[in-house]
Amino acid sequence: MRGRVRAVAPAPRPPWAREERDFISSCTRCDACIDACPTAILVRADGGFPAVDFSRGECTFCGDCVTHCAPRALLRPAEGDAPWSLKASIGQACLAAAGVECRVCGENCPVGAIRFRPRIGGVALPQLEAEACTGCGACFAPCPTRAIVVQAPVECDVPTESEQ
Ligand code: SF4
Ligand code: SF4
Ligand code: SF4
Repeated sequence: MRGRVRAVAPAPRPPWAREERDFISSCTRCDACIDACPTAILVRADGGFPAVDFSRGECTFCGDCVTHCAPRALLRPAEGDAPWSLKASIGQACLAAAGVECRVCGENCPVGAIRFRPRIGGVALPQLEAEACTGCGACFAPCPTRAIVVQAPVECDVPTESEQ
């Protein structure tokens, strides 16, 4: 029997990037997307290929990177196509979970995907609605403890200890 084990996710590609293998074979590492991004969140990553760095800001889904990608490594086939499968999640370093009042992530979410549920005898806790989250990354940098992770679900078949 084999188990499903979560692996470490690589830095995300720009929005509307083609499937990774096709992206790598078509991207010429020209930097045009990096230069075009108005929020400057695109950086040269491993091998000179572009990736998103949410510590620099958020994606507004303007599509300027796609427009400037001549070899179509970034490709939006139709208006309304999802830019990526990225979602935010809140980890154990969250201040509110430790009893410290903090609502910074919710205040910075442009789509209201993070709401705070009042608690009797404790500070309000964040609740992230995954369906509403666009993976824009706006909540990542402002979080004082970097408790937020923005990534695509990554799973691989690895035997777990009990299965070996
Ligand atoms: S969609 Fe716009 S904001 Fe987002 S990475 Fe591309 S250029 Fe930058
Ligand atoms: S514009 Fe396209 S080809 Fe150029 S670095 Fe960006 S993704 Fe690669
Ligand atoms: S990634 Fe964007 S949409 Fe998702 S919770 Fe954070 S700020 Fe909101």
